[in-house]
Amino acid sequence: MKQIILAKPRGFCAGVERAIAVVEMALRKYGPPIYVRHEIVHNKHVVARLRERGAVFVDELDEIPKDSIVIFSAHGVSSGVEFEAKSNDLKIIDATCPLVKKVHHQVQKYEQSRRTIVLIGHNGHPEIEGTKGRVNAPVYVVENMADVESLALLPDTLISYATQTTLSIDDTTAMINALYGKFKEIQGPELNDICYATQNRQRAVKALAEKCDTIMVVGSKNSSNSNRLRDIGEGCGVASYLINDESDIELTSLGERVGVTAGASAPEKIVEDVVAFLLKAHPGAEIIEMTGIEENVKFRLPNGLE
Ligand code: SF4
Repeated sequence: MKQIILAKPRGFCAGVERAIAVVEMALRKYGPPIYVRHEIVHNKHVVARLRERGAVFVDELDEIPKDSIVIFSAHGVSSGVEFEAKSNDLKIIDATCPLVKKVHHQVQKYEQSRRTIVLIGHNGHPEIEGTKGRVNAPVYVVENMADVESLALLPDTLISYATQTTLSIDDTTAMINALYGKFKEIQGPELNDICYATQNRQRAVKALAEKCDTIMVVGSKNSSNSNRLRDIGEGCGVASYLINDESDIELTSLGERVGVTAGASAPEKIVEDVVAFLLKAHPGAEIIEMTGIEENVKFRLPNGLE
């Protein structure tokens, strides 16, 4: 291996930084335990570090004692979960990413105008479960082209669509085009809802793929946006691997040029550890930082924490 090439941008997005800051500030302000519903962001290292500091991650609200603080993760929750938290006398701090909230508002608007809602995304992903649960109307979730084709709705149904924030831009565009082909009356957001961070990291991994023999995507297995980065690398014909950290790297057949990127929930420290590991195995390899978009998005913290 002769070169280690780093994608730009990579790693933490504004929504993840905000969600982690929310847990840290709540721990400082109120002291442990602070309960968090689901993983605050989909990254094992982030969750382990916060757990050490006193965050308690739970699957269900009934695991939390009354009058405790509960933080909702960056992926958002349904209205039902919010209602249940209030009914259980929990004090809510909402770390839902503002860009996910925007999608919640969008589907609520569609419901008010009595249109049939199609949601492009992964069934079972917490973001999709939360968005579906923001409306009472039925929501048709489509994950792929086959799902669009098999949608059992009449062609003149008034369709409105929204998308999960962390999908592949290319896959989503194809599904939106298929929806336009199948239905006469369709309406969606001005652009799709794929967030700036997802789009920027996907463009960066395409640029990286042009220069590499292998791509390492730092991110956890359950991270949607990290999986998409791996898929895109593969789609560009470059062997691409999703790694939780350097311990997942197999040093055989990396090729001469190894690209490294990270999903929006993966800490830069892990990228540094990956680079150090590669350098140890190949001392003298050149490190190249690609040029790319400078991100300066920042989200306000929820009230009561600052
Ligand atoms: S990936 Fe996008 S939508 Fe998800 S938390 Fe980050 S900024 Fe928000």
